[in-house]
Amino acid sequence: MNTKILVVDDEVGLQLLMQQRFRRKIQTGEYVFCFATSGQEALTALGSEPDVDVLLLDINMPDMDGLTLLGYLPDLVPTSRAVMVSAYGDLTNVRTAMNRGAFDFVMKPINFQDLELTIEKTARHVGQLREAIRTKAVAELKARFFDNITHEFRTPLSLIIAPTETLLQQPQLDALTHNNLTTIRRNAHNLLQLINQLLDLARLEADGLPVVEVRGDIVSFVNELVALFRDAARQKELSLHVVADPPAGDVLFDADKWGKILTNLLSNAIKFTPAGGHITVTTTLNTGRVRLTVGDTGIGIDAEHLPHIFDRFYQVDSSLTRAYEGSGIGLALAYELSKRLGGTLTVSSLPGHGTTFTLDLPVQAAHGHEPPVNMAWQVSQRLLPDLPAKPILVPTPATELPLLLVVEDNAELLAFLAESLAGFFRVLTAADGEEGLAVARRELPDVVVSDVMMPRLNGYQLTHALKTDPATDHIAVVLLTAQAAPAHRHEGLNLGADDYLDKPFDLDELRLRLRNIVTRQQALRDHFQRQFQPATPVAPSPQPNAFLTKLYTTIDAHLDESDFRAESLAETAAMSLRSLTRKLTTLTGMGPARLIRSYRLRRATELLRAGRPVSETAYLVGFEHPANFATAFKDLYQQTPTEFITAQQLY
Ligand code: ADP
Repeated sequence: MNTKILVVDDEVGLQLLMQQRFRRKIQTGEYVFCFATSGQEALTALGSEPDVDVLLLDINMPDMDGLTLLGYLPDLVPTSRAVMVSAYGDLTNVRTAMNRGAFDFVMKPINFQDLELTIEKTARHVGQLREAIRTKAVAELKARFFDNITHEFRTPLSLIIAPTETLLQQPQLDALTHNNLTTIRRNAHNLLQLINQLLDLARLEADGLPVVEVRGDIVSFVNELVALFRDAARQKELSLHVVADPPAGDVLFDADKWGKILTNLLSNAIKFTPAGGHITVTTTLNTGRVRLTVGDTGIGIDAEHLPHIFDRFYQVDSSLTRAYEGSGIGLALAYELSKRLGGTLTVSSLPGHGTTFTLDLPVQAAHGHEPPVNMAWQVSQRLLPDLPAKPILVPTPATELPLLLVVEDNAELLAFLAESLAGFFRVLTAADGEEGLAVARRELPDVVVSDVMMPRLNGYQLTHALKTDPATDHIAVVLLTAQAAPAHRHEGLNLGADDYLDKPFDLDELRLRLRNIVTRQQALRDHFQRQFQPATPVAPSPQPNAFLTKLYTTIDAHLDESDFRAESLAETAAMSLRSLTRKLTTLTGMGPARLIRSYRLRRATELLRAGRPVSETAYLVGFEHPANFATAFKDLYQQTPTEFITAQQLY
């Protein structure tokens, strides 16, 4: 960065002197000098070169003195700063110049070392000034952008909310429709709130959120606001206390901003406090100030995170296994709002024991005759905490639909998915990865649909656990994720996920993809079954299945042992008989006993074709009695072994 300096002095000799003294800096490009010998000439120069940083102004000049020129500068070059150059002892003029906005002054004869320091200091100031202006301009641009964009969001959201309200008012809605409509309404409101919070933050940054004071009593205001959270607290089995000084009359305060701050603190307290905990809100009135605290007995915040929790988008737990949903906006907004109101917001916390936020805000005494404001309207519905709709239990059809496990920590989405897929699957549900893994191991579903971000065990970990266990590696896994980045997609697919859908997903697409997976599984089953038909040559498997190949090798090794049964096969595969049965049924449509028998008979057809007599073949493939062999053979191939041999000879 170079510094552009305009020297305005009628003493021409000064130009040469400057060029000599600052030769090095001019050579390196740090200083760029231009010169004017009169006030008039300086005005012309500034017209064509408005990017001057520092002006060195002689006070005494013939046509226009430095003081007069100084008066033009704020309009002409508002972000440049002037250093006055004055005759030694001319303090009256220097005082006048400083009062008219000069940044500093130096005396003649010039001490060049001092001048250099003064130029540096002035240039630094100009740099900071311009940076601040630039930052403010960017903030304003951002706020304007947010204004526009939120409007674009609000219109469609209103068009979601309003018709939903109308539909909800219709009589005789069935429970499922009512529940779905409530979900739409609540989530549209959530989105609206998030957008409004983002907009507030952007406006605060651009200094564009005015303080609007109303008249009212703080104690009743806090009481009314806390009352809005009673349902949410009850639902989470939390006690909610208010401790307040006796009402001390009306004051002037910005109820809207106070409401937003308190709402965020209360929502967090409810969110981060497990059932059985306590939340206490205290109000202490002092002259001209109010202290509010919101304390909880919740999970607390580690010391290392405390300094950051008021940062925008900061969340203590940003892992894929985090237990709490959120955006990290609430506290940043609460903090900025308190600052805007001339107050402070601080926090103290003991991990495992609880957290207390302390809000100190100034209030104005209410004199004059402003009518008191009914404050209930100030805290609109949209600020109410998140109460998910009650999930509907999906009746499980008794038919042999494929078995699907949905793993999702958002109770509402879980219920929605379960309901929506119930016509096509028998649906099992689990609220997080760990529960999902347990259910998958126990029930061995055909397909698992799982969220990625979940507490305890995330979707990737669940996929990995399922795909690395021989008992469950055949289960198809579809991941649903909010992270559309290809890297995440690859991670999931790498771990063996069979498919991947980004949120928000299209329900029809999900259904189609699941149907494709199930159809593929069925096609494979048909293929494996066909392998046991003697007439069809064994087609290469579309997906050579290592697990089945290993089983066949094992059966082969024990082919002539009639007591090699399902249990023995499970033992050699190191699986429980139940797991092996479920897995083989999913893969081939046959249980292990039937698989062993089919395999034996399939090998029998090869031996018979090779000319072995029936009775010998029966023993070789593990049948103790040729009669049993003949019956089993006929069952599978609709002909006796003898008929089979005859038929072969005809070809
Ligand atoms: P969000 O709740 O959307 O994640 P916030 O800005 O409201 O965002 O909070 C930021 C983080 O501060 C939260 O993610 C949480 O980790 C922590 N936090 C806030 N309030 C509490 C509380 N009462 N108890 C424990 N942790 C809290």
